[in-house]
Amino acid sequence: MNDTLFDVLVVGGGPGGLQAALTLGRARKRVLVADGGPRRNAVAGHLNNFVSRDGIAPADFRREARAQLAKYPNVVLRDAGVEAITGSRGDFRAGDVRARRVLLATGMIDQPPAIEGLAPLWGHSVFQCPYCHGWDFRGRRWGYLAPEVSAAHIAMFVLQLRGWSDEVTLFTNVMSDEVRQKLTAAKVQIESADVKRLIAQRSGATYGAPRSGEALGEGQQLEAVELAGGKRVAVDALFMHPPQVQVPLVRSLGLALDDEGFVKVDPMMRETSVPGIYAAGDLTTRLQAAVIAAAAGMQAAAVINAELTGELATTGAL
Ligand SMILES: Cc1cc2nc3c(=O)[nH]c(=O)nc-3n(C[C@H](O)[C@H](O)[C@H](O)COP(=O)(O)OP(=O)(O)OC[C@H]3O[C@@H](n4cnc5c(N)ncnc54)[C@H](O)[C@@H]3O)c2cc1C
Repeated sequence: MNDTLFDVLVVGGGPGGLQAALTLGRARKRVLVADGGPRRNAVAGHLNNFVSRDGIAPADFRREARAQLAKYPNVVLRDAGVEAITGSRGDFRAGDVRARRVLLATGMIDQPPAIEGLAPLWGHSVFQCPYCHGWDFRGRRWGYLAPEVSAAHIAMFVLQLRGWSDEVTLFTNVMSDEVRQKLTAAKVQIESADVKRLIAQRSGATYGAPRSGEALGEGQQLEAVELAGGKRVAVDALFMHPPQVQVPLVRSLGLALDDEGFVKVDPMMRETSVPGIYAAGDLTTRLQAAVIAAAAGMQAAAVINAELTGELATTGAL
């Protein structure tokens, strides 16, 4: 494989990269998928809200996708991280790999706040996305942790949580009077003291609502949020949006980022600020879900394929 010129190097083997590889593979492009960095949803027991895949374990999702890709001899999967990319459009290099185009699907790295007790609960009863795990905790006691909430944040995010639960508590330090009035009208409880630690139930608990009847592991079910001063608020499911950073490879490439740190892409073409390098999935947007990453992966793959095939056909390289 050394020094083979691939049509596309896909960096990242999550839903975005795997879908892109499938689309490119079926378009007869020679593709290398390199996967070997941190995995955002690795701790979660289930990947929900992906039609036909609802409830699948994230590891099974990847295994099945890889098994399907194995049918395409022009798609190569490598379990290895890409540390650096050099070169330019038409001839990029990553270690011993050469590729005409690069698609980044590297996801993001979550940076959860340093709250005692958070780590073992993350992905089990503390989540980032109610569309992913809300149903399973419907009707139970919910919390949302945000250091600061604006009116727009309330309108677009916090109020919708009431659709899943009658008992929602917002843990926040900063808000305007207007925001407080809206929350009070929506019967959202407000706790403004700092969160000191999260307390897990001692014994294993049933995962979410009775849908699955599955047991959560020891210490994976949240019982209460403890505030500075010692007050404990009973909460079964806590949501938060931790800050995120790009993986080191993306940081090294000097791509233009937006104000929130996501890679800027042309919305139609999905090309980054560096010609020949494209991006799809979580690293480009706050709208983060597996099906959205997969859709963006297909979009990027189709754009790359159309553009590259045109170039190869008109230069006699096909
Ligand atoms: C706890 C948790 C639970 C979630 N549950 C759900 C859910 O139920 N439903 C849902 O739709 N979404 C869920 N999500 C969100 C979902 O996981 C992401 O939106 C989705 O995985 C994004 O896909 P992606 O392909 O963009 O990135 P990822 O899935 O993060 O994949 C990126 C891949 O790139 C690899 N990588 C990174 N850097 C390099 C490098 N330098 N070289 C090679 N490989 C590299 C990583 O190893 C990783 O495999 C959850 C997220 C979290 C954190």
